[in-house]
Amino acid sequence: MAKAKKTKREKVIFECTECKERNYYSTKNKANDPDRMELNKYCPKCKKTTKHKETK
Ligand SMILES: [Zn+2]
Repeated sequence: MAKAKKTKREKVIFECTECKERNYYSTKNKANDPDRMELNKYCPKCKKTTKHKETK
């Protein structure tokens, strides 16, 4: 029986690099994005768009 290859979705949290608030929860395909991602997202605490870094 052939094993179905499931794509591994990793749970990732994005935290604001300025206030360290964890604002966004997401998943990503680790095969597609092996490196840590950085996104520009709106931070409600900073009340502006800041860089959000992937954290564990
Ligand atoms: Zn912030």
